[in-house]
Amino acid sequence: MGANPRSRLGRSDGPRKGCRTMPSNRVTIGNVELVSLSDGNGDRDPVETFPDSTREQWAEYPELLDADGHVHPRYGTAALRSGGKLIIVDTGLQAPDGTLLDDMRANGIDPGAVDLVVLTHLHPDHVGWNLTDGKPTFPNARYLAPRTDWDYWTQPSVLEASAHVQDQVMPLQDLNLLDLMDDDYNITDELKTMATPGHTPGHTSIAISSAGQRGFILGDVAHSPAQAHYTDWNPVFDIDPVRSRKTRHGVIDRLETEGPLVSAGHFPHPGLGRFVRREGRRVWQGI
Ligand SMILES: [Zn+2]
Repeated sequence: MGANPRSRLGRSDGPRKGCRTMPSNRVTIGNVELVSLSDGNGDRDPVETFPDSTREQWAEYPELLDADGHVHPRYGTAALRSGGKLIIVDTGLQAPDGTLLDDMRANGIDPGAVDLVVLTHLHPDHVGWNLTDGKPTFPNARYLAPRTDWDYWTQPSVLEASAHVQDQVMPLQDLNLLDLMDDDYNITDELKTMATPGHTPGHTSIAISSAGQRGFILGDVAHSPAQAHYTDWNPVFDIDPVRSRKTRHGVIDRLETEGPLVSAGHFPHPGLGRFVRREGRRVWQGI
């Protein structure tokens, strides 16, 4: 979800029981196939996580709260088939009980078949499975990260305090497996990056356009379905909260207007749906 979630991580539920087939975690957008995968869930106090929010406001979302009033943000990954390539977007947290590789196996996705790993940003819950025991988890893949995030996280003072970058990003550079992307980068003819800064300086989303259909991989522009309505709420992890809030409003307004299918990695499994307006209030409508 953001910086240092490991220290706050409670249990990991994995994909919620009974949800793996219903609702479906597999959709097509034109000729692009998207499979939503999970590396487990965190366990957080929602008001501590979103200091702009109140418990009364959270009570409007009982479906997001457990018996203790906590939220369980998912550590999501999207697997995409586009242009003959198997691409995964973000690699979860790799907590001791992380489920990503099990979930890939359950969905028939072989880590050895992955051509490209795209990182929306370089927070620990998005780079966690880049390597396993110092070796690339996806042995035949190249890894792609936003240049602006790379420049930020590799500043000596930041890098020194960021074990996850030292462990899960720098070795890729040493192994010559890492490429850096600028804004509006064409991953394939159907997948184009879009700068969505604020959460981190180089935070990047991905627009999908194929055969007249559209999709959008949100990354950490939003962390909870409640932000469909409470779009001002910044999570404590945003590096530049003012910019993050502006980005969030701009992106979600546009997603509401244009209506593409959205993949939201921290939303409840499978995190696929649309931002829609219902009785004057913008809501997340999961598929
Ligand atoms: Zn995150």
